Amino acid sequence: MSMLKTLIFSDLDGTLLDHFTYQSTAVEKTLQQLHKANIPVILNTSKTFAELEVIHHDLGLRTPFIIENGAAIYMPINTFNSQPEGTVIIGNYWVKSFSLPREYWLTLLSKNSQKFSPYYQGFSTLSDSKLCQMTGLNIDEAKRAKQRQYAEPLHWLGDNPTKEDFIAHLVSLGANAVFGGRFIHVGDYCDKGQALIWLAERYREQFPNYAISTIALGDGENDIAMLEAADMAIQIRSPVHDFPSLYRQHSSTKTQLYGPQGWAEAIQKLLTNQLIN
Ligand SMILES: [Mg+2]
Repeated sequence: MSMLKTLIFSDLDGTLLDHFTYQSTAVEKTLQQLHKANIPVILNTSKTFAELEVIHHDLGLRTPFIIENGAAIYMPINTFNSQPEGTVIIGNYWVKSFSLPREYWLTLLSKNSQKFSPYYQGFSTLSDSKLCQMTGLNIDEAKRAKQRQYAEPLHWLGDNPTKEDFIAHLVSLGANAVFGGRFIHVGDYCDKGQALIWLAERYREQFPNYAISTIALGDGENDIAMLEAADMAIQIRSPVHDFPSLYRQHSSTKTQLYGPQGWAEAIQKLLTNQLIN
């Protein structure tokens, strides 16, 4: 029988980080236990590389992470014995991207979507202080949030029917337009699930004597693809919205507690029952 190696994929906001305070205190002890047990925690988030570098360091993680809703995977060099095919070296990372660069989508917006330009304001034209006002981020966080590499978030200023027209227009041009709370994200077709599948395959190649098992934890709509793709799905209770519905019925649970408390509750249960190592 082959040994089991578990990979934990986790969303950040509302999952590992508290929805209101962005604190992760409740998971610290569990993260240390997982680190000792050699179980990688792989962050899978809509945030940018610049934001992740800071958060990853603060959480004491040395694992791969997935940015901008599955647009790219950053693997610290030496995560594996050899560099995975299809990756490039950027700084201290092997990087696999699933998306055309942001410039492509900016050009598409400026050249092919001019009639809609009075109805939105893009991140690329927002000042840092305006973004702080809109999101509640501090100025350094806003600067990092603006360093997007793959998609352009737009603040919509028009009415709903025009927004529907705009989204249909973008789709006809080959863009993916995802509405996420505050902004419309214009970019490529990629998601957190596709990135999970690709990375789990690399672990399977690199650890041929292990059975690789994946667990995904998330609270939002943009976590659905990741939750559906994992061997086990853990839906984290949110204080601001219902659990999004999943197709899957098997190996799927919902936490009682909210955010990081729910995260720790679910992983502690698995550790206690020795289901993940
Ligand atoms: Mg979330």
